[in-house]
Amino acid sequence: GLSNRSEEQVSGAKVVAQALKTQDVKYIFGVVGIPVTEIAMAAQELGIKYIGMRNEQAACYAASAIGYLTGRPGVCLVVSGPGFIHALGGMANANMNCWPLIVIGGSSERNQETMGAFQEFPQAVRSSIYGRPGACYVDIPADFVTLQENASAIKYKECCMPPPVSMAETSAVCKAVSVLRNAKQPLLIIGKGAAYAHAEESIRKLVEQCNLPFLPTPMGKGVVPDNHPNCVAAARSRALQFADVIVLLGARLNWILHFGLPPRYQPDVKFIQADICAEELGNNVSPAATLLGDINAVCKQELASRNSLPMNYYTVFYHIQEHLPRDCFIVSEGANTMDIGRTVLQQCLPRHRLDAGTFGTMGVGLGFAIAAALVARDRSPGQRVICVEGDSAFGFSGMEVETICRYNLPIILLVVNNNGIYQGFDVDTWKEMLKYQDASIASPPMCLLPNSHYEQVMIAFGGKGYFVQTPEELQNSLRQTLADTSKPSLINIMIEPQGTRKAQDFHWLTRSNM
Ligand code: ADP
Ligand code: MG
Repeated sequence: GLSNRSEEQVSGAKVVAQALKTQDVKYIFGVVGIPVTEIAMAAQELGIKYIGMRNEQAACYAASAIGYLTGRPGVCLVVSGPGFIHALGGMANANMNCWPLIVIGGSSERNQETMGAFQEFPQAVRSSIYGRPGACYVDIPADFVTLQENASAIKYKECCMPPPVSMAETSAVCKAVSVLRNAKQPLLIIGKGAAYAHAEESIRKLVEQCNLPFLPTPMGKGVVPDNHPNCVAAARSRALQFADVIVLLGARLNWILHFGLPPRYQPDVKFIQADICAEELGNNVSPAATLLGDINAVCKQELASRNSLPMNYYTVFYHIQEHLPRDCFIVSEGANTMDIGRTVLQQCLPRHRLDAGTFGTMGVGLGFAIAAALVARDRSPGQRVICVEGDSAFGFSGMEVETICRYNLPIILLVVNNNGIYQGFDVDTWKEMLKYQDASIASPPMCLLPNSHYEQVMIAFGGKGYFVQTPEELQNSLRQTLADTSKPSLINIMIEPQGTRKAQDFHWLTRSNM
C-alpha cells in the first residue's frame, strides 16, 4: 500500500483475525493453505482457538454445531476452489438445520489495489444469527491477506448484538389459545428451534400449567426432560395419529414429522405453528393459527394470555405446587379438586397425605387437617398443613374453622371454588336462571351460591382470609400466608365454574391398547 512506513503496520490477515475477535468468535475450524494460513495464525495470536481438521466438510459441521450450541456463529476457514467446494456440504447442512455459521474462504488476488471498508464480517455475523439462523460465506482475496496497512486506519465494527426478540401478533396469540382451550387431545411438538431459542423455562410452564402432553423431535429432546410425566415419546405414533390440536414449537412439518399429513395424522387435525421464519408458516398444511416470533417470547405470550381470567384447575395447582413447602402435610377432598390436585401436587414423604380415602367421604378434610397439625406441632414445629378443599367439600365441615382458630393450628385452607358440586354457574347465569322461577325449581342441583366468600368464615374467628381471582393474587396470598406462621388462614380461590379436566386429559395416550 501507500502507507507511511513510520506508523505501525498491520496485515490483512491480522485485520481479519481482529475483526473475528471483535465479533466474539471463539472457535475457528479449518484446513489451511494459501492464502488463509496467515489468518489462522493471526487468530491464534489473539487467543481464538483454531482447530485444524482433515476435511473442510467436517470443519464446517463442527463450526455450525458451535453456532447451535452457543448462539454465536462458529467460523470455518477454507482455501478457495476445492476447499470451498468441500465446505458446501457443511453450509447446506447448517442452512437446513437453521444453525448459524460463517465460512471464510480465500480466493485469488484482486487486480485492484483499494481495500475498501471491511464491512463483511459484521454483516455475515448478523445474517447468520438474525431471523432464521443459517450459513454465510465471506470471500477474502489473497492479496488482502498479505496487504500491509496503517493500524490506525482500520476501524472494526463493534460486536454484533444478539438478535432482537420478536413477539407474535396479539390476535394470533388469542386465536392459538382459544384453539388450544377447545382441544380434546392436544399435543406440543418441541423442535430444535425451541432448543436454540433457550425456551426451556417457558415451555415447561406451558406444559405444566395446561397439563399438555409433549413430544420432542430428535434434537428437541431435553428442552423439557424426557422423564417428565407429560412426555409421550414412548407413544409417538399414537400421539401424532390421535391428536386433534398440535402446537409446533420450532419444528418443521418435514419428513421427520411425516409432513403433517394423513395417515400419520387425523385428516382434520389443527396445527398451531410457532416459528421465527415467516416463510415456514403454512408449509404443507394450512394452520389454524400462526405465531410468527421467537419461541421463548411466544410461549410467554401464550402463558400470559392463558392466565387471564378465570383461572382453571391446572393454573391453580401449578401455582400451589410452586409454593408448597417440601415437608408439608397435604389434606385434600373434593371431586375435581382432589383428583386433579393429586396428579399435580407432588408429595415426597410417606404418611403426609390424607384424603377422601376408600369410602370417598366428603367432610373428612378439616378433622384430618386438625390431627395432622397436632402431630406436626409435636414433631417439628414450623411444619405446615395444607388443606386443599373443593367448595362443596369445605361445606361439610366448615365450622371446624372455629376449632382451628381456637387452638391456633398451623393450617392453610385452600378452597378451590367453582360455585358448585362438580360444576357451578357464574353469577350472571345464576341470576338469569332465577329471573322467573324460584331456586328450588330453576337451580341445577349441583349449584352452590356463586362467589361465596368462604374466607369470611376464617376472618370471623380471627384467622386470615383471602379472596383471589387471578394468578398474581393467588401467588401473593400463598407467599404471605406461608411467611406468616402466627395464624391459620383460608384462601378462597375462584376458578372457572364450568372448568373440568376433560379437555386436558391425555390418558388416551398411555392406555394399555397401544
Ligand atoms: P426439528 O428438526 O427439531 O423438527 P426443524 O429444524 O425442523 O426442527 O425446525 C426448526 C425451526 O425453528 C425452523 O423452522 C427455524 O426457523 C425455527 N427457529 C429457529 N430459531 C428460532 C427461534 N429463536 N424462535 C422461533 N423459531 C426458531
Ligand atoms: Mg366445587
